[in-house]
Amino acid sequence: MTAVQPKSAATQETFDSLSPATDEVVGTHPVHTAAEVEAAVARAREAAVWWESLGFGGRAQRLQQWKGVLTRRLKQLCQVVRDETGKPIADAQLESVLAIEHISWAAKNARKVLGRKRRSAGLLMSNQAATVEYLPLGVVGVIGPWNYPVFTPLGSIAYALAAGNAVVFKPSEFTPGVGKWLVDAFAEVVPEQPVLQLITGYGATGAALTRAGVDKIAFTGSTATGKKIMAACAETLTPVVIEAGGKDPVLVDADADLEAAADATVWGAFSNSGQTCIGVERVYVHERVHDEFVAKVVEKSQAVRAGSDQDAQYGPVTMPSQLKVIKHHITDALSRGGKALVGGAEAVGDRYAQPTVLVGVPEDAEAVREETFGPTVTIAKVASMDEAVEKANNTRYGLAATVFSKSRGMELARRLRTGMASINAPLSFAGIASLPFGGVGDSGFGRIHGPEGLREFARTKAIARQRFTAPIALTTFDRKEKTDALVAKLITVLHGKR
Ligand code: NAD
Repeated sequence: MTAVQPKSAATQETFDSLSPATDEVVGTHPVHTAAEVEAAVARAREAAVWWESLGFGGRAQRLQQWKGVLTRRLKQLCQVVRDETGKPIADAQLESVLAIEHISWAAKNARKVLGRKRRSAGLLMSNQAATVEYLPLGVVGVIGPWNYPVFTPLGSIAYALAAGNAVVFKPSEFTPGVGKWLVDAFAEVVPEQPVLQLITGYGATGAALTRAGVDKIAFTGSTATGKKIMAACAETLTPVVIEAGGKDPVLVDADADLEAAADATVWGAFSNSGQTCIGVERVYVHERVHDEFVAKVVEKSQAVRAGSDQDAQYGPVTMPSQLKVIKHHITDALSRGGKALVGGAEAVGDRYAQPTVLVGVPEDAEAVREETFGPTVTIAKVASMDEAVEKANNTRYGLAATVFSKSRGMELARRLRTGMASINAPLSFAGIASLPFGGVGDSGFGRIHGPEGLREFARTKAIARQRFTAPIALTTFDRKEKTDALVAKLITVLHGKR
């Protein structure tokens, strides 16, 4: 089974997008060449000037109109998402609703976050008025993945647009139809200029975008591709945001609400077939509650099923090659002493993967160390929450984490080496538009969402304006010895105290 196929080996001008549930062709899209990508960036450069000229108010109005179109046609959008990813409509709706919130937040807050502000000039420079503001970069290239084809790219696109940039968007080759739908909807409310453009194709089209002279690349996808993109961007010092993979843990303390923790674990691990960058992949549970917690997870997992019918909780594995990785992680874990309490290697079919709960897996097994990106979870017993923190942090990834603890939630969350954490509920940070989203280590760097997400797509501009001639002139060759002596005295008074 392949989700994407070249139309013809000879021309390769278009490719088909297939439903991962049925292999049916759901759309045909161009494979854009490097020259076409460059032309799109050139068009975007002109559009960017016009878009910037609308100001915060004009842009906010268009973005709010776009949000309105998405909201009113939510059903249609969800169907396109389902066609290309196979996920249940309710899940498509959840990611779209969050994305709509982000468009609205970015539009509403851009002026406040990015607009000109006064800064104190300090005593030595008190004749100056100091201001800082955040100006658009120009053209931003956004390269997206397929797992959340609305929520994930819009986390960059909405913020880049609100900051005054034009955007050239390359969606995943598995979800080009969703990308097209979003860009077409934007063109309805911004018909004047190609402020948001779509380019489609495989990795090579994305690579062409990194070399097409954009002012920043916002990439969401695997760590391996992130490294390639950063290397390409290094050639032209093009800045990048990398939102890459994760191996997110859940910590369950002895005083945790076990029912809630088990529920969050099962949903976090299996929803969207585990194809969630911030999905739950590992759990560390205090030994005092380990057995009870595991029993609850097993019971809840047995009620979860993958399929394409209305009652299935999640759909197929979108990218067929991932099935091999999921199966390998399970068989490797089992061969190294792990035990499958739910599922196992046979849970991985040739389209769907049913839930797998693993215990007793060594910490150096791939199922604990590498991103599985499938509906599996490992659960390990720890003697203390210090051990839980140490094990959770023993990874090259650092995207997000969830902590269940009544008394130590904040302390434990702060000690985790991740960009995000939620306490006593799963993945809550992703739904709070004002919170920045991003990771550390192999999970990438830079932030989307919130004020940090707006500033990510702007250049900081500092301006000092002289209000009157300084009584002591410092920046001139006419400076007198007397002035230097005065400066030395002044700095001693200001900073010389023991
Ligand atoms: P991927 O890296 O295979 O592809 C992502 C995008 O990069 C696609 O559009 C692809 O065409 C493009 N691409 C591939 N090679 C390229 C190159 N050399 N130059 C430029 N572009 C290139 O990732 P995927 O399989 O689509 O997505 C799954 C991965 O994304 C997982 O690792 C997941 O954790 C991660 N992810 C991270 C976040 C986050 O916010 N941190 C969110 C969603 C998904």
